[in-house]
Amino acid sequence: MRFVHDTLPQRVRFASGSAREELAAEVAALGARRVMVIAGTSERESADRVTAGLPVAHRHDDVVMHVPVEVAGRARAAAAEHDVDALVSVGGGSTTGLAKAVALTTGLPIVAVPTTYAGSEATAVWGLTENSVKTTGTDARVLPRAVVYDASLTFSLPAGLSVASGLNALAHCVDSMWAPRTDPIDQALAAEGVRALRTGLPLVVKDPAGLDGREQTLYGAYLSAVAFASAGSGLHHKVCHVLGGMFNLPHAQTHAVVLPHVLAFNAPFAPDAERRLAAAFDAPTAVEGLAGLRERLDAPRSLRELGMPREGVAAAAAAVVAAAPPDNPRPVTPDAITELVRNAWEGR
Ligand code: NAD
Repeated sequence: MRFVHDTLPQRVRFASGSAREELAAEVAALGARRVMVIAGTSERESADRVTAGLPVAHRHDDVVMHVPVEVAGRARAAAAEHDVDALVSVGGGSTTGLAKAVALTTGLPIVAVPTTYAGSEATAVWGLTENSVKTTGTDARVLPRAVVYDASLTFSLPAGLSVASGLNALAHCVDSMWAPRTDPIDQALAAEGVRALRTGLPLVVKDPAGLDGREQTLYGAYLSAVAFASAGSGLHHKVCHVLGGMFNLPHAQTHAVVLPHVLAFNAPFAPDAERRLAAAFDAPTAVEGLAGLRERLDAPRSLRELGMPREGVAAAAAAVVAAAPPDNPRPVTPDAITELVRNAWEGR
């Protein structure tokens, strides 16, 4: 066994129902006196509740998915205008992403309070979009200093979005098994993430306001993000990045649709990953485990239903082949990827 593994420096507080108190402790630990709270309009109610009592200098709700550069520019200007000394994000991956965009140029510390299962809060990856092209990078300054996980904040996430977001987290786990920098620590985290997500998500669908399912899913989402942050983007993430950028598809739903196709593609060529994933799913094979879970969750099925045009399949496949990790377990040929994208488009 021989590997190099970076553990990212970040405090995690997992405390359902106590986000307000836990967040106050983190802001106090930073010595912050002028906080900028970032939360989108549908996250605002939660944000107002959990940030009550903080020394807030500015509340910013101008959040857009994939962080367009103009949106980042306005948030950075607001941070300067209000002379803020810390950022608190309350919301999904788009909101966390905007806080990261501000931290990238200002070095301001972030305390993140996630309200979806996207996992951006546990990575040092930032993303910005300009002229429909999304650029991503890694920078230690954008890693939130602390994360406050309060599963009760996800009660308001509608069931359909909870499923898509949870499968986005599951995709981090699966892809971490064969991503370029994968190591045994990532694989252990990913396997436990799969176990938590396949346990939690059916409970969320059955009872969206039940704490047990929400906690399991949020815990799994955190593990998935830590594994992904270390392992990097495998084939699945490359496919989704290409599709999302080319056709402006919704992030979590795209991951949910594409995952079974990439798993079926790679699994026969990655027997160790297949065995570990099957065990984590508690199923005869990983592919069957994921299919059974998707059935129970009534997961989104096709790229067609997400709005991707049929004539986009060939261009998308070519872009995926160009972006695919060279060490993917299975050779990434144009024919095979065209078939994969076509199957995902049709929802086969
Ligand atoms: P999102 O943040 O866009 O949220 C989806 C919708 O749900 C939004 O309208 C949001 O306001 C709403 N919402 C969020 N929490 C809610 C709640 N608790 N109740 C009701 N509504 C709620 O979507 P997402 O899937 O969380 O994040 C996607 C973005 O995150 C993408 O841009 C993606 O690239 C990025 N991302 C980045 C990383 C990273 O490591 N940098 C990792 C994962 C995702």
